[in-house]
This record gives sequence, structure tokens and C-alpha cells, in this order.
Amino acid sequence: MVFTLFYCRYYIQTITEWRWSDLKKDFIKHLEDESNRPRTTEREHSKEEKMKLHNDLMERYMQSALKKYNTEQNLDEDLGFEFVKAIKESFIVEGAVNFYRHFNFTAMQGSAIHLFFAEVIPDGESCDVSCCRLLQDNHNGRCLGCKNQGDPDLRHPASDSVYAGGHEDSTFPFLIDSDSEDDSD
Ligand SMILES: [Zn+2]
Repeated sequence: MVFTLFYCRYYIQTITEWRWSDLKKDFIKHLEDESNRPRTTEREHSKEEKMKLHNDLMERYMQSALKKYNTEQNLDEDLGFEFVKAIKESFIVEGAVNFYRHFNFTAMQGSAIHLFFAEVIPDGESCDVSCCRLLQDNHNGRCLGCKNQGDPDLRHPASDSVYAGGHEDSTFPFLIDSDSEDDSD
């Protein structure tokens, strides 16, 4: 009886110690693995890099819009407009499901530089171009989206029926300014 009790205590103690040391080894190995794990590329982007990625994507959207404009106007390579630079941009959300981007940008034909308006529906790396127009000096159509959610000075074609977004007088409450994210960690 005494022997049995002693044996049981010895057995339990041995198992407990073995498990504890085994756990400790596993935990140390886990910490080493974690410290050797490469950090994700997302975390490595600085604010400047994120801004450049955003600007590059916006330029691709504007290039797509201008390409569509040149095609619709039957302008071949010699006469077609060439993208120069972005001037203004707005991101508009309507009804929480419709997303639009409005742009002003300049483009060159020959030696003359002109101001353009474009509306695109973003779809990741690509977009659907819903409107691209060359603006005349007196063009300044109404857009409640740019007024409420983006840049109120962004200029639009004279007739607001040629672009889909910007007709709802609302603000989208959940837009987050990505620049305000805390990158301190
Ligand atoms: Zn607008």
C-alpha cells in the first residue's frame, strides 16, 4: 500500500515535470520562430510608399479614361491627347454601395494643354470609365458628391447628366482618412 502510494506520487511528479519542460521548450521555439518570421510587405510600406501606390493607381484610372476619350473621338496616335498630370480627385460614396472617383487632370494635344474631367467606378487595379470630357472655360457643373465628400473646387462638365455620381445630397459617415492611421507601432 505504501509502495503503491509512493509510486503514484513519483509517477505524477515525473509526468508533470516532463510536461512543464516540454511546454517551456515549445514556447521558446515559438518565440524564436516568431522573431525569425518575415514581416508582411503591407506593414513595410511607409506612408510615402502608400501615397505613391495610391497616386500610381489614380493615374492608371485617369489614363484609362483618356484612352476611352481618344477612342470615342476617333483620335489616332498623332491627334490623341496625352496625359500630363493629375489636378484634383474626389472619392464619392452614394447609398453605401455606389462608389465613384471624380478627377480633374490635364492632357496635351500637340503643344496645347487642356483640362479634363473623368468619372470612374473603381474595381481594384482597374476601373470602369463612365465619363471623360474635355472641359471648356465656362464648364462648372453641379456635383453634390465633390461638394460634400471630396474637393468642392473640382470642376465638372456643364451638364450633370453625363456623370452618374454626385447627385445625392448626402455625406458618407464611415469614410476614414488613411493618413490619420497610427503607424507608431
Ligand atoms: Zn464630382
